[in-house]
Amino acid sequence: MPLLFAVEEHVLLAREMVEHRHASDVGCFRDLVDRHLVEAALHEQARGNVGNCLACRQALAGSSIQNSILHGLRTYIYPVHVWGSSTLGTFSMTSSTIKPAPIEARNQAVLVSGASFAGLASAYWLNRLGYRVTVVEVAKGLRRGGTPVDIEGETIDILARMGLADAVRAKALPPRRFEFKNEAGMTLGTVGDDQPGNERYEIHRDDLLDILFGGVASDVELLFGRSIDRLEEGADAVSATFNDGERRDFALVFGCDGNRSNTRKLLFGDGEQFTYFMGGYFFLKVVAQTGLLSANVSEVFSPPGRMAMLNGYDDRTDIGFGFRTEGEIDYDYRDRAQQRRLIHERFDKLGWKVPAMLAATSGDDDFYFDRINQIRMPSWSRGRATLVGDAGYCVSPLAGFGGSMAIIGAGRLAAALEQHSADHAAAFRHYEDGLRSFVEEVQERAASEGMSMMCPADELELAERDQKFAAGDIGF
Ligand SMILES: Cc1cc2nc3c(=O)[nH]c(=O)nc-3n(C[C@H](O)[C@H](O)[C@H](O)COP(=O)(O)OP(=O)(O)OC[C@H]3O[C@@H](n4cnc5c(N)ncnc54)[C@H](O)[C@@H]3O)c2cc1C
Repeated sequence: MPLLFAVEEHVLLAREMVEHRHASDVGCFRDLVDRHLVEAALHEQARGNVGNCLACRQALAGSSIQNSILHGLRTYIYPVHVWGSSTLGTFSMTSSTIKPAPIEARNQAVLVSGASFAGLASAYWLNRLGYRVTVVEVAKGLRRGGTPVDIEGETIDILARMGLADAVRAKALPPRRFEFKNEAGMTLGTVGDDQPGNERYEIHRDDLLDILFGGVASDVELLFGRSIDRLEEGADAVSATFNDGERRDFALVFGCDGNRSNTRKLLFGDGEQFTYFMGGYFFLKVVAQTGLLSANVSEVFSPPGRMAMLNGYDDRTDIGFGFRTEGEIDYDYRDRAQQRRLIHERFDKLGWKVPAMLAATSGDDDFYFDRINQIRMPSWSRGRATLVGDAGYCVSPLAGFGGSMAIIGAGRLAAALEQHSADHAAAFRHYEDGLRSFVEEVQERAASEGMSMMCPADELELAERDQKFAAGDIGF
């Protein structure tokens, strides 16, 4: 961050913020204090002037400064009472404003397949670890579209360490309320994230893509319209042959190419063996503002075995339809007319806002339709390659956590590679061991609670859900 104020002003601002706010009030406040104090202290230190400024000297001397690139750009832990008579306790702050140099120049070429959340976040960290990163993305550009992404918990910390938390906060959508409706439009239950102190954002998928892309675009090699045709592992490298015939060697390969991962197929064989079908299909189309509901509200109507969903925004509406099936159905993924028929067969005779929703989606064929599934694998790594995000452990759209999980996966993988810098096998083991139980927990919740809340299978499951609403016993 450029030094916008004189050093003394930074110190003054930091002190004022600490004295007038409570220590537990973190988030933006933490970043602001951090910014001013760290700027002041570092500036003074660089000038050899720490001794001239009492607050800077105390901040630096009283700090335990951790300079791990991956575990906080710089984390300052210091007693806040150095600034005033009131003791506010120990405060830990992480600078999200100073982009550090790579840990070491590893100078090894690595390959990332896929340029979405998992791929861009992995590319970012690998670059920071000093690798020479190439990203191949099969599409001609970033693959845009989709419903907003939830950002919370560890994802926020990781984005802060990437220096991107402020950019995400700036694009955060207002808090959203979910209203569950019956056919007559009566509200059966409302779910919203109004828990105080729980920092959580929703951000348009495209905005997050752009932010992550901006974090790597000038630092890594990005090849659009390219994918891997073959991977052959040798003693010291993996040889990758691309779809244009070019062949290159890489020290490590990262499969970040989504639910139907190409890398997974190349490494482990037929991808279907790892697909856990969740018993349903989902249609989504984003249309211009429909006026069917207010902004910042989602409405869900779930007749047995089906779900009609609306997400309202200032400038657009998401229209979603889901339905349950016993097993997988046979359809041609290229045949959009057939997919529309599958929706009409199940929704044509329903009330509520369904007729208007069907009418609003009748235009072009630019919609999403796919089965609802997870990816469950006994291991995500093979040799010098590993999988990140949906490619290795898709949690399904019902989890509402796919984007966050991809960013967490990339952050955890980077931490493992930092710790086991000379031993990729140990790093991949560490990554899997550390993340697997969390992934399984999220998958389990999505498969049980997510499905029965959004798309109850039958009258009985619907009645159970509605009873929970009545008792106030349901939430995200
Ligand atoms: C266009 C799009 C819309 C989506 N909409 C939603 C939504 O509405 N709701 C929801 O819950 N989730 C949605 N998702 C999935 C969501 O983005 C992921 O669950 C989550 O973000 C995990 O991210 P990921 O990077 O692991 O996978 P993804 O976001 O799926 O990204 C995978 C990337 O790999 C690329 N790729 C695929 N095959 C190859 C190949 N052979 N070679 C190179 N690159 C390849 C893809 O083009 C894509 O850019 C969508 C994904 C995409 C791509």
